[in-house]
Amino acid sequence: MAFMQRIKNLKDVVDWGLCVGCGACQYYCSYEAVSLVNFESVGIRPKFHNNKCLECTECLEFCPGYKLNANLLSSSHSSDIQSHPLLGSTYEIWEGNAIDHELRYRASSGGILSALALYCLEQEHMNFILHTGMDPSNPLLNKTVVSKTKADLLKRAGSRYAPSSPCDSLHIIENSDTPCVFIGKPCDVAALSSLRKIRPKLDKNLGLVLTFFCAGTPSTQGTIDLLKQLHVQPDDIDTLAYRGNGWPGLFKVSSKKHTSEKSLTYEKSWSFLEKYRSFRCKLCPDSLGEFADIASGDAWHIYKKDIPNPGMSLVLVRSKRGKEILHKAMEAGYLDLKRSNTQAVFAAQGLPERRKELFGRLLAIKLLFIPTPEFKGFSLFSVWKRNTLHMKIKTIAGTIKRLLLRGLWHRNPPTQKLRSISIIKQ
Ligand SMILES: Cc1cc2nc3c(=O)[nH]c(=O)nc-3n(C[C@H](O)[C@H](O)[C@H](O)COP(=O)(O)OP(=O)(O)OC[C@H]3O[C@@H](n4cnc5c(N)ncnc54)[C@H](O)[C@@H]3O)c2cc1C
Repeated sequence: MAFMQRIKNLKDVVDWGLCVGCGACQYYCSYEAVSLVNFESVGIRPKFHNNKCLECTECLEFCPGYKLNANLLSSSHSSDIQSHPLLGSTYEIWEGNAIDHELRYRASSGGILSALALYCLEQEHMNFILHTGMDPSNPLLNKTVVSKTKADLLKRAGSRYAPSSPCDSLHIIENSDTPCVFIGKPCDVAALSSLRKIRPKLDKNLGLVLTFFCAGTPSTQGTIDLLKQLHVQPDDIDTLAYRGNGWPGLFKVSSKKHTSEKSLTYEKSWSFLEKYRSFRCKLCPDSLGEFADIASGDAWHIYKKDIPNPGMSLVLVRSKRGKEILHKAMEAGYLDLKRSNTQAVFAAQGLPERRKELFGRLLAIKLLFIPTPEFKGFSLFSVWKRNTLHMKIKTIAGTIKRLLLRGLWHRNPPTQKLRSISIIKQ
């Protein structure tokens, strides 16, 4: 179609609002043409140093903003897995928590990710964990970090509802002498899953890949506006936690000037922050992390507001490697899990239901001649077909209305006019 815009390079991915800010392009680019910038109101995005990126298409091979293909997962072809059109492929589903009380308490939900990471360090003798933590020099920001001890993991446990780009430091895993663990958002892990196919040393050194269920990443502006609600100056903060220290934990901020901490409940802070998620996050078909070895999220179906619970997670085992490590971690006393099932995932999470609307949203975008990411292997059409006619029309019309009202129907490059800060590579 003559009017249809096509994604031809990485700059197009960014300008059409499809970048997820994983940082994989910065890691991969051998021309040193890309650095990362955190645009406060947008998220982490690549900045291009020369015109090389306009001619180069290498990054499109693994860019999760451009394409995701669940058909390429080796688990898609295995016989001992269950395939569900809304949940993807799973070897097993569990629910439970870390046995270590400190980890469970400090973590977001049941501390499964931190406990698995600790097991890999202590029992599998993996070299380190590459993941995300608060940037101590600016608590508003995240930083890609390397954890080697339980103390490191305790410091970095808990979700940070702000932009992160853990793929920016994949060279550290690639250059490691022994295998390592990677923890990232589902989109980071999707980039990694494509990259490991073209970078053999990276592949060899990936001992375990973990992710969490993800409804999308709010921009830094979300945090800044939330701090304003609490009458805290963003320049004045000392530490900032989005949750953890109990389940679901509080949004907590301590400032340099005031001795007392300010806090908000998880419900209030997340319902504020979620409005700052990007356009691309709202199109995500992979919120339950199909490209990881193991994905974990809140076991909300067990949560009762007035009954204290130190934290419970749901665990989706996505690969043979994930299954092997999970079982060994249970036997070694790191995890306390019991079998769960698809019904529990639906009872706990609204995320899988989102997939039902996605085909209609993408269709609406195409009707405005706006480029969309290529999603394969997510059963988007088969789950869309089952919606009522009313639902189908509402999704398409609602998406078109939102795109027009928010000015998302044309190229919209994040510009230098927006407040930004460079991300420093490890
Ligand atoms: C932006 C975002 C949206 C989320 N949306 C949902 C949701 O809709 N439903 C749901 O059930 N769960 C969601 N989660 C995940 C949830 O908050 C927990 O991370 C999950 O339950 C795992 O808990 P845990 O106790 O096992 O993790 P922990 O043991 O606390 O470990 C958390 C790990 O996540 C890493 N991490 C924290 N923040 C980030 C980040 N911004 N980017 C990359 N890595 C990070 C940390 O480095 C740490 O290794 C979201 C998390 C984030 C960061």
